Amino acid sequence: MALNFSEVGVIGSGQMGGGIAQVLAAYGAKVKLYDIAEAQLAKARAGIEKSLQKLSEKGRLGSAPSEVMARISFISKLEDFADSDLVVEAATENFEVKKELFKKLDQIIKPAAMIGSNTSSISITKLAAVTKRADKFIGIHFMNPVPLMKLVEVISGTLTSPDTLSRIQVLVQGIEKTIIHSKDFPGFIVNRILMPMINEAIYAVYEGVGSKEDIDNGMKLGTNHPMGPLELADFIGLDTCLAIMNVLHEGLGDSKYRACPLLKNYVAAGLLGRKSGRGFYEYPAA
Ligand code: NAD
Repeated sequence: MALNFSEVGVIGSGQMGGGIAQVLAAYGAKVKLYDIAEAQLAKARAGIEKSLQKLSEKGRLGSAPSEVMARISFISKLEDFADSDLVVEAATENFEVKKELFKKLDQIIKPAAMIGSNTSSISITKLAAVTKRADKFIGIHFMNPVPLMKLVEVISGTLTSPDTLSRIQVLVQGIEKTIIHSKDFPGFIVNRILMPMINEAIYAVYEGVGSKEDIDNGMKLGTNHPMGPLELADFIGLDTCLAIMNVLHEGLGDSKYRACPLLKNYVAAGLLGRKSGRGFYEYPAA
């Protein structure tokens, strides 16, 4: 069955934007994927090709990888979103970056077009207020890696219309993901719970409670988590983890959400996890 949005734009071609573009195209949408960094677009193309190939070999892709690839165009101008019916933003987790993007995008896209933000933690109401279409603005929080994870957290802002919510629900059902609804509070549901746990694991390293391997094994074998919290932090990106902790701390005002100084040091040193080649662990192939 065809998706209810046929022309979709995606902003940010990092791990999330690339995954979102891939999934939407796999279900038949024509997708434009934009990034401010040209080199990142090339990396995203290679990543999507590799992922489609793997899914196809496992018999988990409805059409040929080349057909899916042909539905994705890689663009370097925001103006190319003029025809999009929906734009999903997955740029860096930083309010100022997103604010500048949404201000520009609001001028470019059609009056009826909708905007979805994949933010992990930032207020949807605050982001929507940057545009003149708060009724058509919504949080669509995909999980990482997007092609494999079954969940999408949907967040309505204060002014998001019921029509926007219902059209986004139909879209998410169309790509065969399960929806949970969160109120618009810092970190929504998933990161309100997940990120303090990851931050606590980083405190455990910082205070020398155990080695990173023992901390990860403790949570994998002891509580049945598929990945240890430090491995998961590297996978998410330590810059994103820090940004989320800062939003929780500022938005909820409780010192229990303060980011661990070790996390701050790692990010300051450029140790961002998998995407930079080193975080708590090393990733020589990155
Ligand atoms: P990433 O660092 O892998 O990618 C971010 C991309 O945004 C980069 O390619 C960067 O060049 C691009 N970008 C930065 N500023 C831009 C601009 N002004 N215009 C266009 N592109 C710009 O980050 P990510 O992990 O893909 O996260 C993206 C968003 O998704 C964030 O809001 C994050 O919180 C959210 N998210 C992340 C995860 C995760 O596990 N990493 C999960 C769910 C949601």
